[in-house]
Amino acid sequence: MKAAVAYLQPFMEAEKAQGVVQPRGRVLLATVKGDVHDIGKNIVGVVLGCNNYQVIDLGVMVPCEKILDTAVQEKVDIVGLSGLITPSLDEMVHVAQEMERRGLTQPLLIGGATTNREHTAVKIAPQRSDLTLHVLDASRAVGVVSGLLDATQREALVKKTSAEQEQLREIHADKQRRPLVTYAAANAGKPAIVWRTEDVPMPTFIGRRVIERQPLDELARFIDWTFFFTAWELKGKYPQILDHPKYGAAARDLFGAAQKLLARIVEEKSLTANAAYGFWPACSEDNTIVLFADESRTRELCRFPMLRQQAGSGPYYCLADFVAPASAGLADHVGAFAVTAGIGTQDLVKSFEQARDDYNAIMVKALADRLAEAFAECLHQRVRREWGYGADENLSNQDLIAEKYRGIRPATGYPAWPDHTEKPPLFDILQAPEVGITLTESSAMSPAASVCGLYLAHPQSRYFDVGRIDRGQVQDYARRRGLALTEMERWLAPNLGYDRGIERV
Ligand code: SAH
Repeated sequence: MKAAVAYLQPFMEAEKAQGVVQPRGRVLLATVKGDVHDIGKNIVGVVLGCNNYQVIDLGVMVPCEKILDTAVQEKVDIVGLSGLITPSLDEMVHVAQEMERRGLTQPLLIGGATTNREHTAVKIAPQRSDLTLHVLDASRAVGVVSGLLDATQREALVKKTSAEQEQLREIHADKQRRPLVTYAAANAGKPAIVWRTEDVPMPTFIGRRVIERQPLDELARFIDWTFFFTAWELKGKYPQILDHPKYGAAARDLFGAAQKLLARIVEEKSLTANAAYGFWPACSEDNTIVLFADESRTRELCRFPMLRQQAGSGPYYCLADFVAPASAGLADHVGAFAVTAGIGTQDLVKSFEQARDDYNAIMVKALADRLAEAFAECLHQRVRREWGYGADENLSNQDLIAEKYRGIRPATGYPAWPDHTEKPPLFDILQAPEVGITLTESSAMSPAASVCGLYLAHPQSRYFDVGRIDRGQVQDYARRRGLALTEMERWLAPNLGYDRGIERV
């Protein structure tokens, strides 16, 4: 469709010049400062463009001032913000506050993986006198935008949204009132982990290793294609989705195009996959995981303070529970990793964009993301072998996707390890920039197609959601992290089980 529109563009321009056709409105799109993800935003841009909206796409990592200056200069009708990682939620609050301060009255649309209706209603919408609306996915964008630009529909939409948001704020307030156990009680109610020598194996090496130019064809077979379809907003499990009565044809089309481009990327080696990973002697000290430089365990390399669950009836999990305390008398270890498959994405995307091939420009990013996740899976398998306990493992890709192996690889910014500020120390021990992965000011990884985390080997280790925590724990955590409470609260905003006194202005 976009290619067809590109072909028709000169004719449409000529008609516009004669006043025959006018664009239906101007929409500004941007991924906020500190964030690099834009697949969803780009799909929205293509869909709006095909529906005769003029889209001004400012790209990724766009500072608030630039978004608002452009909105004024270009007299846009609507501003749309996108973001993937949780710190972006706070940046969106900031943009909303600035819009209000500068008197920008355009509707503000919010989208992206970590955004949701509740956060938009509770945190973003109250910053403005004008409408702020969460858009679930690209398929809704045209309906929302056309409704907002139609004077008769707009009023009803504003009314309906305000009522919905008021209700969501009440639901949120109810949730926040639900009691948590005290931090002390949560610590006392931690899971019972049995410490046995045979569960604490010795890795075959200590320290950091690097993998450069990992052959992409070896990664392709580790791809979890279900998430590929999710990226394109086709929801369903692979391979069943290919036979879906309604979406099957679209899914097969998309899959065919992906296979074709993937084969070309593998053949031309146009993306580069690198990794840094390693094993370190480690122990837990209460809720903190401590890493040592070598087996003498005298020189500390770094500390990863962890958060403990406080909601529900227990046991109250914390990632540090899965690493042996010194008192267990066992020489435990943890692994760490950072992988990317996104080196080269930009050049490839640019070449497709120049050819006005938006479809493949988005496809490149979707495939790079898949290859990065596949690399994380492939490296985890290798690590289980190098750690010894996975030497006899014989799992299919389906088994790997279902995590039928021992141990976990918790990632920062995910439910068990929500604090993105843990990425800099992780990147330090891995020297990740040396293999081409860096961090933005919000600790988003660049290239976007990158994954990082820890490897924990204990058979009882499992994923969980830290969820809501109280101020007592945040104070203790801020102390362990060496950050001021208000700074810590900003990073942990989605987990706070209480309302922060002062919001960022
Ligand atoms: N096969 C999927 C894997 C991504 S999601 C894909 O290709 O996209 C699964 C990964 O997310 C896990 O391996 C882990 O690194 C991370 N993860 C999932 N749940 C988590 C949690 N509760 N806490 C921390 N990390 C988690």
